Amino acid sequence: RQPTEINNLADEYLRLAYHGLRAKDKTFNATLATDFDPAVGPIEVVSQDLGRVLLNLFTNAFYAVQKRKEACPDAGYTPTVTVSTHRNTATEVEIRVCDNGLGIPEAVRAKIFQPFFTTKPTGEGTGLGLSLSYDIITKGHGGTLTVKTQEGEGTEFIITLPA
Ligand code: ADP
Ligand code: MG
Repeated sequence: RQPTEINNLADEYLRLAYHGLRAKDKTFNATLATDFDPAVGPIEVVSQDLGRVLLNLFTNAFYAVQKRKEACPDAGYTPTVTVSTHRNTATEVEIRVCDNGLGIPEAVRAKIFQPFFTTKPTGEGTGLGLSLSYDIITKGHGGTLTVKTQEGEGTEFIITLPA
């Protein structure tokens, strides 16, 4: 583990995920929003592993907003992915990845952290992103990874990390 500026890492990976998708699909557009708590500062993480988690969460978020837009091409809908950080206590920081995409149906919610579970067509998802992310955050860093979602409204993944 190395002391890592979490705000910078989150910002870099948000842009990396977005531009990666835009390189494959020039028509894809989303608003990127950030809300970084300056009190977060550097914390000890395996930055490559945390980066991988963020990339998974951002990729899922962009997919969900893109599908919502396709399902309902409403001029009033602005696909948005937000990342925010917060220092909860002296010993804990939080990273939230929020999207206003399709949300996760009740019946699907219990399975999303299982390896190989995917609702995506063959070739678009392996179903490994969230199970790997869960292991990296919990076993790898002693943190937590939880989800809040509302079908048709959006989804928020919340990472907490000991600081
Ligand atoms: P994959 O992206 O390859 O399907 P993941 O483990 O990353 O695998 O995600 C598992 C499933 O969880 C997805 O197929 C999808 O059904 C659901 N999911 C994950 N993130 C989101 C999100 N932000 N919005 C809606 N559904 C999501
Ligand atoms: Mg994924």
